[in-house]
Amino acid sequence: MRPHADEWEDEGFFPNTVFTRMAELGYLGLKYPEEYGGQGGDYLHDAVLVEEMAGCGSGGVAAGVGAHIGIATPPVWKFGTDEQKERFLAPAIRGEKIAALGITEPDAGSDVAGIKTSATRVDGGYVVNGSKTFITNGVRADFVVTAVKTTQEGGHRGLSFLIVEKEMDGFSVSKKLDKMGWRASDTGELAFQDMFVPDENLLGEENKGFYLIMANFQWERLLMALGSTGSMFNLLDTAIQYAKERSAFGRPIGNFQAIRHKIAEMAVRAEAGRAITYNALRLFAEGHDAIKQVTMAKLQTQRDAFRQADDTIQIMGGAGYMKEYGVERAARDLRLGPIGGGTDEIMKEILGRQLGL
Ligand SMILES: Cc1cc2nc3c(=O)[nH]c(=O)nc-3n(C[C@H](O)[C@H](O)[C@H](O)COP(=O)(O)OP(=O)(O)OC[C@H]3O[C@@H](n4cnc5c(N)ncnc54)[C@H](O)[C@@H]3O)c2cc1C
Repeated sequence: MRPHADEWEDEGFFPNTVFTRMAELGYLGLKYPEEYGGQGGDYLHDAVLVEEMAGCGSGGVAAGVGAHIGIATPPVWKFGTDEQKERFLAPAIRGEKIAALGITEPDAGSDVAGIKTSATRVDGGYVVNGSKTFITNGVRADFVVTAVKTTQEGGHRGLSFLIVEKEMDGFSVSKKLDKMGWRASDTGELAFQDMFVPDENLLGEENKGFYLIMANFQWERLLMALGSTGSMFNLLDTAIQYAKERSAFGRPIGNFQAIRHKIAEMAVRAEAGRAITYNALRLFAEGHDAIKQVTMAKLQTQRDAFRQADDTIQIMGGAGYMKEYGVERAARDLRLGPIGGGTDEIMKEILGRQLGL
C-alpha cells in the first residue's frame, strides 16, 4: 500500500482492489470462523493488522479497511443469522462486498439515541426514510449496517439495525464529503426515501439495537487506540531519524537538549499508549467487561497521537510542514481520533459514570 499512498490521497479515493487483494491474503477474515471463509483467528490477530496498518502511509486507507473489518462486519458476525452471515459476512471476507456502518445523522452524532431515520413496519418488512452522514466507505459500500428507529418511543428503546443494500429502491449516496484528513477514504452522506427493507435484513432483535451499538463501540475504540499507538511509534522513528540526520549550528539537532527532551517525551507517550491499550485489549480479548479500560485507552491515545505528529512536525522544521515526508498528513489524519468513534468529551462522560459520578 505504501508506494501508492500519495496517489490515493491525491485522488481522494483508494481502489476496491485493496479489499480484494487483502481478502486474497486472508486479512479481511482474520478473526472470523472458517465456515464463512475466515481464518479462524481471534481479536488479537486483527489487533496486529490494525497496528501495522498505521504504517501504510494513508489514514484514509486504514480507515476504509478498518470500517469494513472493525465496525461494519462484526455486528453481522455477532448478531446475524446463519443466512445473513452467508449473504453478507462471507462475501465481505472474500472482498466481494464492501461494508459500512451507518449510525451518525445530520442531527445526531454523540447522542446516538437521538437518531431520526424511521423504519415503519409494513407487510414483509419496513419502509425506511431518513439520512446518514459522515459514513466511512459510504460511497462505495455494497451494504450498510444501519441504525433506525422502529418505534416512536424516545431514548434507546426504539433502536434497531437493518442491513441496507445499495441496489434497494430509494437508496442513494447524496454526497461524497470533502474533509481535512483521511482523504483517501470515501466519507458519504446517504439518503433513504421510502426504501423497502425486507424482514430478512433485520439484524438482531427489533428494538434491541442499542445493545448492538454498545457492543460494537468497545472494539471500535480499541482499534482506534491500536492504530494511534502504531502511529505514535512510527512518528517517533521518523523524529529520531531526522534528528540524527539534520544539522544546525554545526551539530545534529538531536544533540540539542530541547530536541532530545522532546523526543524522550515522545518515546514515553508511545510506550504509555501501548501499555494502556494492550491492557484494555487483553481484558477485552479474555472476555471481561473492559469498558473502563477501553474508554481510557481511547481517550489517552487519540489526543496524544495528534500531539506526537505535531511534535514531529516541530522537530522537522519546514520539512515537517511539507507533504513529501507524510508527517503533515499524519497530523491531519490523526486529528479525527478525538472526534470519531465517540468524542473525548463523551469518553470522559463514560469514565465519570464508571467512577460512580
Ligand atoms: C471522517 C469521519 C468518519 C466517520 N465515520 C463514521 C462511520 O463510518 N459511521 C458512523 O456512524 N459515524 C461516523 N462518523 C461520525 C462520528 O462518529 C461523529 O462525528 C462523532 O460521534 C461525533 O458526533 P458529531 O460529529 O455529531 O458531534 P456532536 O455530537 O454534535 O458533538 C459536537 C461537540 O459537542 C460535544 N458534546 C456532545 N455531547 C456532549 C456531552 N454530553 N457532554 C460534553 N460534550 C458533548 C462533542 O464532544 C463535540 O465536541 C465519522 C466522522 C468523521 C468525521
